[in-house]
Amino acid sequence: MSMSFVRPAGSLAKTAQDPRPLAVRVYESVRDSIVTGQIEPNTQLVQEQVAEALGVSRTPVRDALLRLAHENLVTQISGGGYLVNDLAEQDIHDIFEVRQSLESLAVRLSFGHHTPGQLTLLRALVDDMAERAADPNAPWFELNRDFHIALVAPCTNRALISILGELWNKPVNRLITRQYVSDPQHIHRMVGEHRALVEAAASTDADTMNALALEHLKEGYGETSSERRRLLKPESPTQEK
Ligand SMILES: [Zn+2]
Repeated sequence: MSMSFVRPAGSLAKTAQDPRPLAVRVYESVRDSIVTGQIEPNTQLVQEQVAEALGVSRTPVRDALLRLAHENLVTQISGGGYLVNDLAEQDIHDIFEVRQSLESLAVRLSFGHHTPGQLTLLRALVDDMAERAADPNAPWFELNRDFHIALVAPCTNRALISILGELWNKPVNRLITRQYVSDPQHIHRMVGEHRALVEAAASTDADTMNALALEHLKEGYGETSSERRRLLKPESPTQEK
């Protein structure tokens, strides 16, 4: 079992110009290593070894692993340590089910209220994605998230916007996006669907806008789910719940 982290050993403790607490940086380092696939599913993470690899004490590592377990990225195993979770079908299902419901509502509340400036920004975001469509290593999670947040920018329901923000913050979304964009055809389809959504937002046809938004999320769910099944190696244990 090998562990590889984004930062070389020891660098976390020495970045004095980063004012955030060490525990936060340790958490983000381990989280990013998991969501980027640098640490593979079913890798065992032991507190002492992670602490040594990152050049930090055990306390921030313990806190980071507890938080990652709470976020369902790792599972505590008997005898100590944690196992890195595979992306489960239920993870994909749960995220998209909530997005289909809440984003649809936010889209409905936003329709007809986009300013010319907001539409210009949305078109620029889609153009940016189109230019990067051939690059699987572009920051697809951020590009997609920024588009979806901008799409519902006119929504004035602060409780809804706050819940959607929290939903995007769940690290499992990064795993979902990585799975989704592993097929370049999905990127091209996503860009096309985003462009259609912007034009619908600029139109006077609320029904089309609502239908496109729902369809886009259903497509995203279906494609992510089938990509996950396709990539599952027969010999690797799955973690269906
Ligand atoms: Zn999208």
